[in-house]
Amino acid sequence: MHEIAIRMTKRNHNAFVHLLGALESQGFDLGEILVTKNFEDILNARPKVVLYSFYTEEIWDVEREVKILREKTNALLIAGGYHATAMPKHTLRFFDIAVIGEGEEVIFQLLNTLKKSEFRITENLLNVRGLAFYLKGEFVFTGFAKVDDFTKFPPFAESLRYIAPIEISRGCPFACYYCQTPYLKGFRMRHRPIDQIVKYSRRMRDMRYITPNAFAYGSPGGVLRLDKLEALLKALQPLRKEGRRLFYGTFPSEVRPEFIKPETLELLIKYADNRRLAIGAQTGDEEMLKKIHRVHTVSHVAEAVEYMLEYGLKPVVDFIVGLPGESEESQRKSIEFMKWIMSKGGKVRAHYFMPLPGTPFARCKPSPLSKEMKRFLGQMAAKGKIEGSWGTQIELSKKLQRLIEEFYEEPMSYVGSVNEVC
Ligand code: SF4
Repeated sequence: MHEIAIRMTKRNHNAFVHLLGALESQGFDLGEILVTKNFEDILNARPKVVLYSFYTEEIWDVEREVKILREKTNALLIAGGYHATAMPKHTLRFFDIAVIGEGEEVIFQLLNTLKKSEFRITENLLNVRGLAFYLKGEFVFTGFAKVDDFTKFPPFAESLRYIAPIEISRGCPFACYYCQTPYLKGFRMRHRPIDQIVKYSRRMRDMRYITPNAFAYGSPGGVLRLDKLEALLKALQPLRKEGRRLFYGTFPSEVRPEFIKPETLELLIKYADNRRLAIGAQTGDEEMLKKIHRVHTVSHVAEAVEYMLEYGLKPVVDFIVGLPGESEESQRKSIEFMKWIMSKGGKVRAHYFMPLPGTPFARCKPSPLSKEMKRFLGQMAAKGKIEGSWGTQIELSKKLQRLIEEFYEEPMSYVGSVNEVC
């Protein structure tokens, strides 16, 4: 019988695979944990504690499941991830404990403490940093959990068959106003050492990695360290020769446009198997780039697209439409830029702006899409020229606005307070 269950999903798979590795490496017996993507398994197992991890966009589905768990079990419910960190009080409307920050050390201490207290909330939890919960009716926050050296923990557990793309870098210094990453993981980029990446890549058939900016490997984040990037890619070559494929700078990671240069592309062509690269443009309007704090220009994106085409790579370029403060004229500039990218043979992916808790844009409203933008996106999608979920994201964005409006709270953050823009 399992006393602990992990509710694994497609979206939290990577996070839990890594956390299981962290638990095992600290001496936790994973045989004690039921890990399943099947909700029914959890209901049947009747565990004493269930762990969730989710994004704010998933809260409505999670809420439905939690209601069933409350009705059918007495399990203590624990939530981690972006939503729990940014909106702990809201999370505690459904869960008993919210994990705030980076989870590797908290989860180990939390489970051990709970085991000793028969899975009840007691004062002992006050000694575990990175938690929010109610104790005798009072809201308690034990501090943001920071993991200075995430590379102390392996990317996956030795004893389980689960694997996931390896997180090779964590943190991002750029602080784009719509993005949660720096507020959960910090502004300083930290990197997994090459020998570890090579060691764990052996378990993958297709070698894929998680990083906010694949070409910034080895750097504090804002500058290119070509020597370190090359050392990493070179070190993975023996694994390629054994038949594994190396995907770098593409799903599930991407590259910032100003890092796309002939010298980085030469490395990619020489050492990796992907012939597409994902970059974020977000808008075709210079002013908007400043307003969203992207810290690159439209010319950086145009130059990156040209370089990629020159090297025979397919550019996949992300845009966000409906950004706060976007005028019809800004949207026209984005349309022109998207057309230019497509005319060159690049792929455009369009997303609709979604306010995310814990970001400077959390309380900002999306801008309405102009008729021209709606017509353009509709026509391009019908022709299969634009990918992306902008259509469904419009409704989701409205739901998020209502949620943040109704339950707004000062987010807990890696970097202290979050500077609000709206
Ligand atoms: S969008 Fe990318 S570059 Fe911007 S803060 Fe997030 S991770 Fe960093």
